[in-house]
Amino acid sequence: MSDRISQHASHCILCGKCLQVCPLLRATGREELGPRSKSDLCRVLAEDPGRLSEVDAARLAGLCLGCGRCREVCSQGQDVPGLVAALRGAHPNFRSWLWKTWLTRARQLWSPGSKAAGLIPERFRTEKLGPMLKMLAGMTGGPGLDPFLTPKTFPDTYRGERMLLFAGCTANYVQGRWLMAALRLLDGLGADILPDGFVCCGSGLKGAGFADEAGAMAERNVAVWREAGRPRVAVFCASCLAGLAAYDRFESDEERAQWAESLLPLSVAVRDIGFVISDNASERIGYHHPCHAGKGDPDRVFLRHALGDRLIAETDRECCGFGGVMRLAAPGLTEPVNRQCWDALRDADMVLSGCSACLAQLSATAPDRVKVGHWLETIG
Ligand code: SF4
Ligand code: SF4
Repeated sequence: MSDRISQHASHCILCGKCLQVCPLLRATGREELGPRSKSDLCRVLAEDPGRLSEVDAARLAGLCLGCGRCREVCSQGQDVPGLVAALRGAHPNFRSWLWKTWLTRARQLWSPGSKAAGLIPERFRTEKLGPMLKMLAGMTGGPGLDPFLTPKTFPDTYRGERMLLFAGCTANYVQGRWLMAALRLLDGLGADILPDGFVCCGSGLKGAGFADEAGAMAERNVAVWREAGRPRVAVFCASCLAGLAAYDRFESDEERAQWAESLLPLSVAVRDIGFVISDNASERIGYHHPCHAGKGDPDRVFLRHALGDRLIAETDRECCGFGGVMRLAAPGLTEPVNRQCWDALRDADMVLSGCSACLAQLSATAPDRVKVGHWLETIG
């Protein structure tokens, strides 16, 4: 078993906790799609990655949303999404399969793909794929939400503090309004935002099995932070934040702890701002809790506080069904997952979230009457 694969595997004690939280298992009722079966299959295949055929690789890619919920509850440290990603990376034909799938399933992936395409770094845009990805990346969706929260009073907590802002690929290349709203809020808080040379967080590539490329991005981002004097790093995408928090290439344990300490969800920084709600605010707002936001979910805490009774629905166990690579491999399996999510949000006429991947998926699948946006879009 290769090191990269074995580092994600551990001894399963068959407690069944992961079965209770897997959104794929819950939505499909198919036990072979649950984390325990996947971990068994991975273990067999991991003994000899060379035995993986193209069909096996496609099957593995189609088996996991990469939501990480099973990993979060496993007392044995079993990392099923990590195992699946490592096996994808170990398979010699997987990359060519992935690109072939991009081409052959592009139509089905149209709208969510438009967002996802923009996230693919330049060097992966081969001559053949480049034009299609560019076209998809240009399809940025609707005009955004009308803001209805106006900041009135700012606390002094961060005044004069030098800080970095990790905006993420979606805000940098597609949703500039998120970036502008974040900068306005940090300016109001008095933070001194430093110029940065951050690249993609790498979590999407890591989940797809491109561990080396994702590792290089992690090193680059840590170097940017180091050169800036290890300041706080504000982040407003739950997936980016989870990806940054999982970095493991540091000079020492002390530096690793410093990095973890420096990551600041923007919703924590803005929690004590006094907001006024204007009349155009919806009375029926829903919140989608991203799988990668974890139990504490600072965006949810902020929105509960800022919106009060207007927040009438929240997801908790439901995954949006974006699914990363799984969306390419088995789009049919992501649909029941997505339906359960919308079922939990059925009473809302506006749905907010704080994860760029979830927002791409929810925007593409929302019922006509429902507006979808990042919580930053509500702030004027
Ligand atoms: S939660 Fe962990 S130990 Fe329990 S059944 Fe799942 S993989 Fe096994
Ligand atoms: S990562 Fe999510 S979808 Fe994949 S096995 Fe674990 S809980 Fe299920």
